[in-house]
Amino acid sequence: MNIDLNKNIINLNKMAQMKKLAFDRKKPVKVPTFIVRGENTVADISRILDEQKIHCRNLLFLCDETTFKIGGKEIIESLKKKGVEIVKKFIQRSDEKTVRLVEKTIKYHKFDLLIGFGGGRILDVAKLAAGNNRIRYISIPTILSNDGISSPVSVITNKKGIPISHLTYPPYGVIIDYAIIKKAPLRHLRAGVGDLVSNLSAVFDCRLARKRKNECIDEKILRLSEIGAKKLLKVNAYDIKSKEFLETLCDGLLKSGLAMCLFGSSRPASGSEHKISHAMDYLFPGRDSLHGEQVGIATLFTMAIQKNPHLKSVKRLFKNIKFPYKLSYLKIRPDDFVKIVVYAKKIRPWRYTILEDKKMCPEKISKIIPEIF
Ligand SMILES: [Zn+2]
Repeated sequence: MNIDLNKNIINLNKMAQMKKLAFDRKKPVKVPTFIVRGENTVADISRILDEQKIHCRNLLFLCDETTFKIGGKEIIESLKKKGVEIVKKFIQRSDEKTVRLVEKTIKYHKFDLLIGFGGGRILDVAKLAAGNNRIRYISIPTILSNDGISSPVSVITNKKGIPISHLTYPPYGVIIDYAIIKKAPLRHLRAGVGDLVSNLSAVFDCRLARKRKNECIDEKILRLSEIGAKKLLKVNAYDIKSKEFLETLCDGLLKSGLAMCLFGSSRPASGSEHKISHAMDYLFPGRDSLHGEQVGIATLFTMAIQKNPHLKSVKRLFKNIKFPYKLSYLKIRPDDFVKIVVYAKKIRPWRYTILEDKKMCPEKISKIIPEIF
């Protein structure tokens, strides 16, 4: 199989210009060095590493039993043929303990490369462990459930079972294999849609903060963050696994991650709707809903109070792809949702959003809930 790497790499010239823009703000910027997308890219891993001049001898490969079967084994075998020493580790959870164990393995074996092959949990553990130990990390997602595939943010559950966002280094490289992504459960793809459209709410909040609080947020970064969601709203969404839909979703999530890299925090992709989702995790921990499902549902609420012009299109998209947009899906009662929104203002209080702007009190919140859900 032959992959045109140049065709599959996101416009790196444009990225370089944007990097300069972020440098002008005197912030250190790290972005992935390469992004490769295509069908059956995993089968071509050795060639991709050669093209990127990545010569590793000692590699840590993180996956789980499922992802090992759907491509992990193939990657390991093809790299072993090149003479690479590989330690494979199955990851079950994305908690602090797992990160510590992986870091211990890294220190002991002195790996020169880490590959994470799997869903959000595996990639989050890989990203933070690699970042803390300053080793190169390649992200190969098997599902598209959130924008962590290219971002500098890793979400790790603490001892109390609450997911905490850690700012770290983004992956050195990202490899997307559409043949694998296509086999992902629909639920995860829908969650990816929820996380991507939430950028429309987050970007609205950024522009609001710029207007009201003079917050310094570059418009080019905001456009990069929202462009994928806007494109997705225009795609014929009846077949979520169609080539067009999957590529648009993937491109949008990658750009969302890059916007975070350029800004140096999750700000361009995480506003009031993420505050609500985090508040849900704090007040009602241990539920089995996905991050993208939570932020997608919260986005409907924040967009309504923002009077966001994209709300109607987002609702239509959710209906078309059968996104679970009802509050009852999260097993949260309306009166608990009121508590969650009130609590949300305590999350990252320095981040100005529509929740602070509209001074959302319990009465106002309860009035809006039946109009949306
Ligand atoms: Zn998110």
